[in-house]
Amino acid sequence: MKDRQPLGDTPVAEFRKQLHKLADWIADYREKIGKMRVAPNAKPGAIRAELSAQAPEQGEPFEKILADIDRVIVPGMTHWSHPMFLGYFGWTATAPGLLGEMISAPLNVNAMTWRTCPAATELETLVIDWLRQWLQLPEEFDGVVYDTASVGVMHALAVAREEAVPETRRLGLTNRDLPRFRVYTSDQAHSSVEKAAIALGIGEDNVQRVPSDAEFRMDAAALRAMVKRDAAEKFKPLAVIATVGTTSTASVDPVPEIAKICHEHKMWLHIDGAYGGGFAILPEYEWITKGWRSADSIIINPHKTLFVPLDFSVLYVRDLERLRRVFTLVPEYLRGDTVEAEKNYMDYGIQLGRRFRALKAWMIWRAFGREGMAAFMREHIRLVNLLADWIRIDKRFELAAPLVMPVVCFRFVGADKDPPSPTGSPARTSGAASKLDILNSEIVERINASGRAYLTQTKLRGRTVMRIGLGNVLTTEQHLRNVWELIQETSNELGRGGSPNRPGD
Ligand code: PLP
Repeated sequence: MKDRQPLGDTPVAEFRKQLHKLADWIADYREKIGKMRVAPNAKPGAIRAELSAQAPEQGEPFEKILADIDRVIVPGMTHWSHPMFLGYFGWTATAPGLLGEMISAPLNVNAMTWRTCPAATELETLVIDWLRQWLQLPEEFDGVVYDTASVGVMHALAVAREEAVPETRRLGLTNRDLPRFRVYTSDQAHSSVEKAAIALGIGEDNVQRVPSDAEFRMDAAALRAMVKRDAAEKFKPLAVIATVGTTSTASVDPVPEIAKICHEHKMWLHIDGAYGGGFAILPEYEWITKGWRSADSIIINPHKTLFVPLDFSVLYVRDLERLRRVFTLVPEYLRGDTVEAEKNYMDYGIQLGRRFRALKAWMIWRAFGREGMAAFMREHIRLVNLLADWIRIDKRFELAAPLVMPVVCFRFVGADKDPPSPTGSPARTSGAASKLDILNSEIVERINASGRAYLTQTKLRGRTVMRIGLGNVLTTEQHLRNVWELIQETSNELGRGGSPNRPGD
């Protein structure tokens, strides 16, 4: 580069120009995102084929790199922030959150100890405490920020394991005469529980899936019977993972009953509130917090519900020292940087290097306040109820699960609406049922391939259902009307036809 110093970064004046250009690029993206395809129509490998496979030998100008971003990368994205992206739980990228990400990039600190970045450490403690207050958790709960809930549950179970079998940290699990652990979670819980069991040497098969009731909540009586049976067979019941806001239907397990069983059998109680826990900031959802005070650990993902851009997941532990005892380990080269600290977050998990995640949470939560977030969440709840009403009116569709949070599961049944069957009945195996499963799956695939919206599909009691999650601040009632019309049209084309009921008819 002719005006670049032979050694050294981009000159400041040039960097400033690039930043201004990028600021416009980001604002334009945000402004135009609703007009883009939600997801590309690309085949695997197509994006890479558009880019040079040869690792660069010489540097290239920013303009050229940005041009490739516009030409290849952006059209190759599934745009999670698109207002018609209604998959998973919706998405929570917000302008203040994005600004927070932008500020943390140039700071580029490593918040492993207090001294390596005092402000990042203290801001992390501060936002963890703000969230604790909003959730009305007692002060004995303190937390740590990880990237994801999957990592959080693994750390929680590591502490449970150490407390159940002391010295595991030092001696490991092999060549010791130990009972087989059992971990219990509902048949609706997230697969991160098995992943944690795999990583911790507990073993995937030792995660026991407890049946759920007609409303997809863990059946506490079944849990009690399973724990009793396992204890009699010389297993070691270790922990229960109760879910507040399950992945498919956002159902809420009966935490107080589960807590009682945990107490009786000295099991660790972990609450997976990755998605649903955030709703506790709304007074009308206070009911979901029942039993939380009895928990040993609780996960909340503000990147799912509380408007913080990915990634930001908080693990709360009753008496955080329990977590520190399992993971603190200071190598010599870090000793000097750990001396004066009240808290060095590297002590609370396997990760050493840590991003400055707290900044974006602090910025978005200050910008919105609890009331601002509550207003958005209530709007999403209003919208999901509206959609559920449209589904109820159109006799060719049926709701597949109760509405608990802004997530709706529904199924196209065409003219052959199923006779009402008790939820919880086993999967139907008739040809008609599997045809409907294929049809529902095809409707979702067709819509996603169209680039006009993005939904997910899931299975409930063996039946394929469509699923919409609302959590995006850009999604409006009009977007929802558009997607409902698209679902009706697509179902008409692929199913048996009939005149659609338009929203508002
Ligand atoms: N728990 C629940 C209930 C989830 O729905 C999910 C993911 O959607 C997870 C845990 C895992 O979350 P993460 O991606 O943060 O690991």
